[in-house]
Order: sequence, then C-alpha cells, then structure tokens
Amino acid sequence: MTREGHYTADATIVWCIDNRTWPGFLDFVKEKGFSRFDPIMVAGGVKELSTPENGASKEFLLGQIEKSIRLHKSKVVYLMGHSACGAYGKHFEDVATENDFYIKELDAARAFVASIFPDVKVVNFLLTREGSHEW
Ligand SMILES: [Zn+2]
Repeated sequence: MTREGHYTADATIVWCIDNRTWPGFLDFVKEKGFSRFDPIMVAGGVKELSTPENGASKEFLLGQIEKSIRLHKSKVVYLMGHSACGAYGKHFEDVATENDFYIKELDAARAFVASIFPDVKVVNFLLTREGSHEW
C-alpha cells in the first residue's frame, strides 16, 4: 500500500546501508521532525561521491539525488558518514584520526554535490561511537 499523491520532501538523505546505523537513522529523522523524506541507502553513504569505486557508481548516486530534488522538490541534502564503515574497509590508529578521515570525505562529497546543485543546501552528518556531528 502506498500513500497517494505528490509530495514535497523535507530532505534528501544519503545514508549507509549498515544496519548498525539504523537506530541512528531513526533518531535523525525523528529529531529533525521529517515526515516526508527521500532516503538513499547505499553502502558507504557518501563514499561514492567522494571516493567512488568507479564513475558509474558515482553517477548512479548523483542521479538518485537529482531525482529526489527534481521530483520531490527537496531543498536540503544530508550526506551521512559513520565510524567503522565497512565500505571503506579502513583501520584507524585512534578515534581522532578516524573522525578526521570521515570529515574530509564528507567535506569532499558536500563540495561536489553543492557544485552540481547550487540551489540546494547540503549538510554533512557524521555518526560516531560517541554521538553525531552535523555541519
Ligand atoms: Zn557504512
């Protein structure tokens, strides 16, 4: 069963498929008060925008964001990254190094998305073991 009619999305949310982050996702949309949003769940979250496996995977994710903006008039795109993301397959010496890595990934992804969709606000969201950070 589906809801009928068109809608305007409160946000487009790029999120990792990692089920360990699912409670964080539910908290995120609840805290934001979103009722209509377009979740785009892909392994690595923003990874395919910052350090893509290949051009096709990057274009696919970009196309999903574009459709959300075009079809559902989303005005904000949230880009999510998280600690211990298996899509990256990285091991870090310490938490600070790990957080710095994901912050750089998110900043690169945001710069890219903002350059493609200049009329949309792009916000980074990092989910860590200690909590979440948004900027
Ligand atoms: Zn992940």
